Amino acid sequence: MVHRIAVCRPQSAVYLEDCYLTTISTSVAVTGREADGGAWVALRENIFHPQGGGQPADRGRLGECAVVPVRHPDTGLVVLRARDEEGGALDALAEGDPVEAHVDRDARLLHAALHTAGHLIDAAGRSQGWYLAGNMHFPGQARIEFTPPETATSLAAPEAREEAADRLRAEIAAAIAADLPVSSEYDIDGRRVVRLGDLHAQHCGGTHVRSLADLADVTITAVKLKKSRIRVSYTAFHGPRR
Ligand SMILES: [Zn+2]
Repeated sequence: MVHRIAVCRPQSAVYLEDCYLTTISTSVAVTGREADGGAWVALRENIFHPQGGGQPADRGRLGECAVVPVRHPDTGLVVLRARDEEGGALDALAEGDPVEAHVDRDARLLHAALHTAGHLIDAAGRSQGWYLAGNMHFPGQARIEFTPPETATSLAAPEAREEAADRLRAEIAAAIAADLPVSSEYDIDGRRVVRLGDLHAQHCGGTHVRSLADLADVTITAVKLKKSRIRVSYTAFHGPRR
């Protein structure tokens, strides 16, 4: 059963509903200042993903001002701060002002592809009997870490790790060939659950591609043992259907 929590919030998290909406005309919901005096702005309809859950922050513009989104610790809102020193464009904004926001689409789609591929590797690792222990979806350093069900000595030999990598590759390739849909819903506690078809479900607040056929060049680059964890390093890109 799908539940949605109906609460009157000053900001809607549009980026969770539509990963591909990278331009929006909306208005300023809240403004404020950090202790260092820097202004921040929260949009009524927010299309920016802040850093979190192993995924890097989006970057983009508010009007002509380059901005970076961060999760405001006091309010829980995603707020935009000027990327450069000249935050004057944000200083001038007030609640209710109309604004146009743009997310860097290339970066967004790369982050979504890496993040979705991370779920896919998680699913493939679980079918090996491994348990998810950590994830990092940053470009150039993407990796999923697992704890094995018992000691990882069965993966001590390089040949055993390469065989495990091949099993992961086969499962990943099959899921992409099946073009499993990527969907999200909210559980009874109001937490977002992301699914890859019937293969995988995980609580997640990240951005994802529409279906696995949107992924391109998902590559397992290494399977290593690191302090009793299995580390699966990978790369992934977004396909041409942008
Ligand atoms: Zn996710």
